[in-house]
Amino acid sequence: MFSSFAYRHSPIGAQELLIAAKSSLRGLMREGRAFEEVAARIEDSQWWSAQELREFQSRQLRRIIESAARNVPYYRERYRALGLDFEEPEFPAPIENLPLITKADVREGGKSFLSERKRGPLFAGSTSGTTGTPLTLYQDLSAINRENAFIWRQLAWAGLRRGERRAWMRGDMIVPATQEKPPYWRLNRAENMLMFSSYHLSDAAAPAYVAALARFDPVVIQAYPSSIGFLAGWMSDAGARYRGRSLRGIVTSSETLPDTRRREIERAFGCRVFDWYGQAERVAAIGTCEHGRYHLLSDYSFVELLPADNGLFELVGTGFHNRSMPLIRYRCGDFVRPAPEGQRCACGRSFPLIEQVSGRVDDPVKLPGGRSVGRLDHIFKGVEGVLEAQIRQDRLDAVTLLVVPSTAFDERTRETLLNNARHRLGDEIGLEIRLVDAVLRTGNGKLKGVICNV
Ligand SMILES: [Zn+2]
Repeated sequence: MFSSFAYRHSPIGAQELLIAAKSSLRGLMREGRAFEEVAARIEDSQWWSAQELREFQSRQLRRIIESAARNVPYYRERYRALGLDFEEPEFPAPIENLPLITKADVREGGKSFLSERKRGPLFAGSTSGTTGTPLTLYQDLSAINRENAFIWRQLAWAGLRRGERRAWMRGDMIVPATQEKPPYWRLNRAENMLMFSSYHLSDAAAPAYVAALARFDPVVIQAYPSSIGFLAGWMSDAGARYRGRSLRGIVTSSETLPDTRRREIERAFGCRVFDWYGQAERVAAIGTCEHGRYHLLSDYSFVELLPADNGLFELVGTGFHNRSMPLIRYRCGDFVRPAPEGQRCACGRSFPLIEQVSGRVDDPVKLPGGRSVGRLDHIFKGVEGVLEAQIRQDRLDAVTLLVVPSTAFDERTRETLLNNARHRLGDEIGLEIRLVDAVLRTGNGKLKGVICNV
């Protein structure tokens, strides 16, 4: 909606009405019937003992696997030969007999991953397009409600109560790329939230951003690490101070948060950063508690750790929430370093402790006018015809979209990609699409979405 002609050409007041309308609809969907119920339950379950959590996981696993084996064609076929006994008291042990699945399995399996038992309408979402092949995933309403309840628990750990002021800097296209003057933000009255553009950050714009934040004085800021990190970097270079009084925490997610960046953000804004790890597949979630430690949320899903290199482990998860498209023993392709066995957090929760989360790290693209734009994988989201993609910048005045095309790639795909990129980067930079057989990967085999060499 925010990239539509009507939105881009409306005055700010009208844009804010549209934002509120969209946000109210989203609220109705995300905070439906199951939301309050799950929110209340997980308020309790965060304090369960390790034993209580194990018992809960065991019940959930049995329920999800039983229902998948009965109602989901993909699992029915594959599990038939295994002769699983769901009365087995030692669950989750039997899960080790089930095959691991990957993104490629889910893509190839397509609709055979959907349950034949209908649980109301399904909503399609997509994994991000630059971390390998994008994937379309379907969720039912109850799964969306549950996810949202967990997000709100993380916001509560950061000090936010529902209804309080928050700021948001997470890649929404709320300010047209061609706009060259503040305000680079729009007020979302439905959620009492000031939404900032992640696409207009520059040294020149930074003072206006920081001043607008302080004026709105949010209790919590939700942001991409690259966006809030840019402001923190500018503040430390310029010796600027944040003057808001109410800020209790900053919740980051969607990108890896390096320690140096976390410290810089905490110093600049004078509060703790609460980093959240999740993924579109909804099979694992890691939150940050009030003591600044990462917890693997064992009331969210069942996670196994698959040994990899350098003391890291790959997350393999089984989600509890989406019985319409269950993912069982799904390899996330993201890695963590667990804390030493037996370590307890001072917060008192029994969720396992994680020392380090290693997901995506992209470079920002630099524009001739001084803007620095992070998280550009939205350009590829939901676009048919793209197998893999990478953005490369070798010169200040040009950006190349490297695309590994599928057979569905055509002129329309090209046009959509260029339009998506134009809306985020504006007219000041040359854009080119180059079709390639493969894109470069980093040492650990991960695909880096954006490589900037300027
Ligand atoms: Zn803790």
